[in-house]
Amino acid sequence: MLALAGIPLGIRFRFLDPSPDATAGALGELTVAPLDDPAALRAVAAGADVVTYEWEGVPAAGVRRLAERRTVLPAPVALEITQDRLRERELCEQLGIPTAEYAAVAEPADLEGAGRSVGFPSILKARRGGYDGKAQAVVRDARDLELAWVELGRAPSILEARVPFTRELSIIAVRGRDGSTACWPVTENRHVDGILGSSLAPAPGLEVEQQQAAEEIATSILDELGYVGVLAVELFEVGDRLLVNELAPRVHNSGHWTIEGAETSQFENHLRAIVGWPLGSTAAVALSAMVNCIGAVPSAESVLAIPNAHLHVYGKAPRPGRKVGHITVTAASEEELRDLLVALSGVEGAPGAP
Ligand code: AMP
Repeated sequence: MLALAGIPLGIRFRFLDPSPDATAGALGELTVAPLDDPAALRAVAAGADVVTYEWEGVPAAGVRRLAERRTVLPAPVALEITQDRLRERELCEQLGIPTAEYAAVAEPADLEGAGRSVGFPSILKARRGGYDGKAQAVVRDARDLELAWVELGRAPSILEARVPFTRELSIIAVRGRDGSTACWPVTENRHVDGILGSSLAPAPGLEVEQQQAAEEIATSILDELGYVGVLAVELFEVGDRLLVNELAPRVHNSGHWTIEGAETSQFENHLRAIVGWPLGSTAAVALSAMVNCIGAVPSAESVLAIPNAHLHVYGKAPRPGRKVGHITVTAASEEELRDLLVALSGVEGAPGAP
């Protein structure tokens, strides 16, 4: 999707992916190798004006080595911090950004104290390797602590209070090479089995103050890291408060609606940022709903029969739980959006609309 946004701007791409089936291969030269293969990294980056990444799991050490010879944006520190939940929390704390109560657990001796300070129910999350609810264990009371620790493979973790959120939100923000920043409207996200099912943007009923608070959170992180590119901040709404759950140093699934629903998409603005071009407006041009196709793609005929429906098929082999495409519908009013979502929920093989 980055390349689809960049090719019309005259940008050319090369890709590194461990899979020979990577669909990006249709849009530029594809090098198939592990993401930390030094020779492959050098080859794919040779002569490039800028190198970027769109997965937070890219081994940070290789990216840091590459950054000694090439311009890599966002800078590797963004990967290093977001690959470690504890460092991510410490960054938020340092910036005065609210998160759920948490305590670091480095060894079994820390469990009891962490339980006392955080309380129950809580969630033990491995510092590394977790996303979409992976590497996490629910802790109902003190007796669960030891079990959760073993379940996570005795990995250094954080114990985090379970937040009684009213809904999950995210804000996508971008910072250019010149330090200018912009944020898209906050998005409401609904998950199915820990996987993003659908997004509504702008988030229905959001107060102006909440949008401002989310923008302040995102912008302070961008500025602190001297970040260049798109950053996603996942949030919990608790009453009218916002708590940060997680950061993603990349274009984000909850920002896919920006392709049709915003003046400039997250993909285009990421490229404009890292290349050093002026950022485009992040204003919404419609009300949008994005629905993920998980495990199977519905028939194009049935989706495209719905007015204002836009189908994106990733060309990935379908597997249970795998995101293989998404559909965005745009509308001028909440009523119209509701009708479109009802139509979408009737499409065979389409996932449930929100
Ligand atoms: P994560 O991998 O940390 O984004 O967590 C995946 C999902 O688990 C989130 O989208 C939430 O639905 C839920 N979750 C994670 N942390 C908490 C928490 N502290 N309190 C309540 N729900 C949580």
